[in-house]
Amino acid sequence: MRYVSTRGQAPVHDFAGVLLAGLAEDGGLYVPESWPHLTPADWRALRGMAYPDLAARIMQPFVGEAIAFDTVAAICRAAYTEFRHPAVVPLVQLDTTLFVQELFHGPTLAFKDMALQVLGRLFEHVLATRNERVTIVGATSGDTGSAAIEAFAGRDRADIVILHPRGRTSEVQRRQMTTVQAPNVCNLAVEGTFDDCQDLVKAMFADAPFRAELHLSAVNSINWARVAAQMPYYVAAALALGAPEREVAFSVPTGNFGNVLAAWATRRMGLPVARLVVASNRNDILARFLTANNMSMRPVEPSLSPSMDIQVSSNFERLLFELLDRDAAATAATMHDFRQSGRMAVPDMAWRRARAVLHGFRLDDAGTEAEISRLHKTTGYIADPHTAVGLAAARALCPGHGVPIVAVATAHPAKFPEAVEQATGLRPALPPRLADLMEREEHYVVTRNDLGAVKAHVSAFARRNL
Ligand SMILES: *Cc1c(COP(=O)(O)O)cnc(C)c1O
Repeated sequence: MRYVSTRGQAPVHDFAGVLLAGLAEDGGLYVPESWPHLTPADWRALRGMAYPDLAARIMQPFVGEAIAFDTVAAICRAAYTEFRHPAVVPLVQLDTTLFVQELFHGPTLAFKDMALQVLGRLFEHVLATRNERVTIVGATSGDTGSAAIEAFAGRDRADIVILHPRGRTSEVQRRQMTTVQAPNVCNLAVEGTFDDCQDLVKAMFADAPFRAELHLSAVNSINWARVAAQMPYYVAAALALGAPEREVAFSVPTGNFGNVLAAWATRRMGLPVARLVVASNRNDILARFLTANNMSMRPVEPSLSPSMDIQVSSNFERLLFELLDRDAAATAATMHDFRQSGRMAVPDMAWRRARAVLHGFRLDDAGTEAEISRLHKTTGYIADPHTAVGLAAARALCPGHGVPIVAVATAHPAKFPEAVEQATGLRPALPPRLADLMEREEHYVVTRNDLGAVKAHVSAFARRNL
């Protein structure tokens, strides 16, 4: 399988190449040159498979010749033994046609583990084959940083440096990053905001000599391998609920659009997905696009579901490319205008195409709290704020006609105990393996919000091993 950039001006790569490259050199995102297609018989043959084996099978056409199938299968098995549920991604039924699929049984209790546990091992394998090392650098407001640190801690060929805004992440989220004990992990607490951290990371990547010297690499949500590793759980849910003979719908609490793009891809591959609900909090750029073709940037406002607090959903560019009939020049021009004007002009035809499958939904904090409370009262289920947004969206926009709708649960309620306690009166406890998180020793370095200072830290840390 070969990968091309959505903007058409970057070198073509295989799966290993896009894994290491992340963003394409022309500023675009890598997408498969063509979409694999599975027949009803192919889908049926996957029924009843253990999740790690199913994951390897679904990823196989995307990995192509780059890595042997047996290696991918071994990587998936190792990755998902880190999950604390025998089904890995269990389905819970809440109503006749309403289901939750729990994606939070991994080491950091958020769905980011689903892809990053696989990615850490894929990196290790590809880097060993090439006899290379990398320094992974990233900024986080919470979930991504801890999932990336868990995925790379202790690996031989990658050092990882994560910047977080000092005092601006939740205590659970900070401790999940800073209590990891491994010689290749460095946490930088920046005296600034999340945006400052992101700008610092961008500036390091833009500094070509620095980037080359330290072999900088990224595992943010635009990395194609993350999207590929997020497809199998949609397949698992659909097969369990009767696909390919029966249609299914999904509701996805959305930030950068990576998770919902993976669901869209399974539909593109022939899975009978009747509808995709794109659930947003008050930061509703996608909901505004889907209801009124109004994709316009607004300042980010903090909410009860911080992992969905975004101004622009970076993975949307991959969908845009498809909506524009894979016209790279048109995609590049549209994205360029969007950056300049803050407003995206999507042709009416393309917008209608999106609307045929995707439905937008918005819920504010009061609605989120009410949903957590209502769910608890009527079903006993305790949802975290992100999951609650997706569940409210699923109830509002389920397709009906007996089509089951699956809302994906992206975080464990114990990651957001204040919001859950406020809504239900119950404070969810951390699972046993994290029960002593608040007593563990933290390791981090405080640094000024200054590019020179941050580069000095990254360089001193990574150079020891290079
Ligand atoms: C990252 C995240 C999301 C958003 O996922 P995207 O792929 O960015 O749309 C939703 N919920 C939680 C808990 C997350 O960590």
